[in-house]
Amino acid sequence: MNNKLIILSAPSGSGKSTIANYLLKQDLNLKFSISATSRKPRGTEKDGVEYYFLSPEEFKERIAKGEFLEYEEVYKDHFYGTLKSEIDRILNEGYNAVLDIDVVGGCNIKKLFGEKALSIFIQPPSIEELRNRLEQRSTDSPEIIEKRIEKAEFELGFAQQFDKIIVNNNLETAQKESLQTIKNFIKQND
Ligand code: 5GP
Repeated sequence: MNNKLIILSAPSGSGKSTIANYLLKQDLNLKFSISATSRKPRGTEKDGVEYYFLSPEEFKERIAKGEFLEYEEVYKDHFYGTLKSEIDRILNEGYNAVLDIDVVGGCNIKKLFGEKALSIFIQPPSIEELRNRLEQRSTDSPEIIEKRIEKAEFELGFAQQFDKIIVNNNLETAQKESLQTIKNFIKQND
């Protein structure tokens, strides 16, 4: 079987999820890898759609059982992880998996899967622009925004470890560039 993993990582607010949703609608045979998390659902989020929502206890039990390919405590007490069963399911069904995960998790999955995975770093044009976007999204409190900015500064340092960096100055251009990069990768490795 020659199905692939497409890893999309970026500081929060870089437009990564919008780009992921665009890619899922293209003719790339992609399926979204639903991560597990111990954070609470936001807004209209549903279990088994955006995430598998687990209690912190359940999350830790599943870590102990070795059920994760990778996991991170992305924010304090907020665990996020990629379940082995999720990637197996997508690949066994004959799809390529698209993973929308944090930068450290992205590097870990790339190490595990090597040539089978393409890792893409979506870079915000600047920290100021990132702050504007997070404020406009208005889903987070000022304290959370501060935490996300601090984390973004740390995450930008990982960009060079990715196969491809795409700067999201303009959403449409970034979407097209991501599409082309993935098409080339899938073709090359067929
Ligand atoms: P949010 O709470 O905004 O949905 O996500 C917070 C961060 O967790 C984002 O950067 C997101 O990409 C990351 N994330 C989501 N799923 C996973 C995962 O399975 N593993 C890791 N390492 N990070 C994840």
